[in-house]
Amino acid sequence: MSLTSAPRPRRPVRTVRHDPARQPMLVIWEATRACQLSCLHCRAEATPARNPFELTTDEATTLMAEVLSFGKPAPIFVISGGDCFERDDLYEIARRGVAMGLHVAVSPSGTKKLNRDSLMRLQDVGVNTISLSLDGATKESHDGFRRVQGTFENTVAGWEAARELGMKVQLNSVVARHNVMELPDIAKLVRDLGVMTWSGFLLVPTGRGIDLGALTAQECEDVLNLFYDLGETVPIKTTEGHHFRRVSIQRHVLDKVGRDHREVMNLGLLYEALYDRSEALGLVTGERSRRAPINISSGNGFVFINHVGQVTPSGFLDVPAGNVRDSSLVDLYRNSELFSGIRRTELLEGKCGRCEYRDVCGGSRSRAYNSTGNIYAEEPLCIYEPGSFPFNDEVNDLII
Ligand code: SF4
Repeated sequence: MSLTSAPRPRRPVRTVRHDPARQPMLVIWEATRACQLSCLHCRAEATPARNPFELTTDEATTLMAEVLSFGKPAPIFVISGGDCFERDDLYEIARRGVAMGLHVAVSPSGTKKLNRDSLMRLQDVGVNTISLSLDGATKESHDGFRRVQGTFENTVAGWEAARELGMKVQLNSVVARHNVMELPDIAKLVRDLGVMTWSGFLLVPTGRGIDLGALTAQECEDVLNLFYDLGETVPIKTTEGHHFRRVSIQRHVLDKVGRDHREVMNLGLLYEALYDRSEALGLVTGERSRRAPINISSGNGFVFINHVGQVTPSGFLDVPAGNVRDSSLVDLYRNSELFSGIRRTELLEGKCGRCEYRDVCGGSRSRAYNSTGNIYAEEPLCIYEPGSFPFNDEVNDLII
């Protein structure tokens, strides 16, 4: 096994150029909860029928105008679901958003509605970025998880069509017990088919995902270290895995001081198994420049608006600050007690509260809340004991 040899980023964690307390980088709008799939992990507990109280076409237009009023650079506006293809006005809403000057991305489900024609219609109205979900390396595991036969083939066909059309694709994969051993094989698909970003979502126990078998903290540490290794061959990021930023800093420091991470990081048998499989697939050494994770999190660079207009820090943190139907999104984001509080890392409790990485990590507030009922509780899936990493001066140079 080699220590990293590819060019390293100057800093192992990126920060957004604007103040994330003033404007988000990403605004996710859950256009509908309707979806023809019934995935085991579904945050939204999606149903086949649309809710008649969803934001209307004009309300969505007003919402997008408000997103623009955050100022420049305009946040990326992601139309999500459910399955946003369940809305007949999807193309009209996207067209209006693009015409206003927003960067609009679309996150559809892997159904038959995802096809070359629907992607071309999106392109016609100015959408060039989509995100898709793939939770297994084979149709057996992916379709078993999504609970509808054919979703693997639909997703891969949509992925290939989008690439042929020149669209940017983000691929999202839930990381949980059912598929953790397949991560190297999913990474190989990612490398072979090509994506802009591959996001590993560390399961948050919410919606139908409550009983899905989230990993342990030790297993998460193993997976996050594997993700760091894979960064040389695939453009990887995490969702609700903020301690990947801590791992990235530590691994960067260990590379710099010439220490093998296996001697310093507390890695388990899962890491060894995943690493060996990844090495066999040629995934742990490559030429690409590692992409540093970016320092945004729920309510701090990120905001979610649900299908009926409730504004929450994340789609996995179902605590609303208010509703866009009667309040200003910009005001809720900048000034509400919920959003102001979630950005104050000095309010964090337990390990996260005393951790030297709290300003670049802070743990998943969604997972803390869903596990304990306390937004400020410590991240349940982080193994790190604050103060225990041996190269503090080098770390401080990177996070101060
Ligand atoms: S203890 Fe909390 S703040 Fe520190 S690395 Fe872990 S999740 Fe992040």
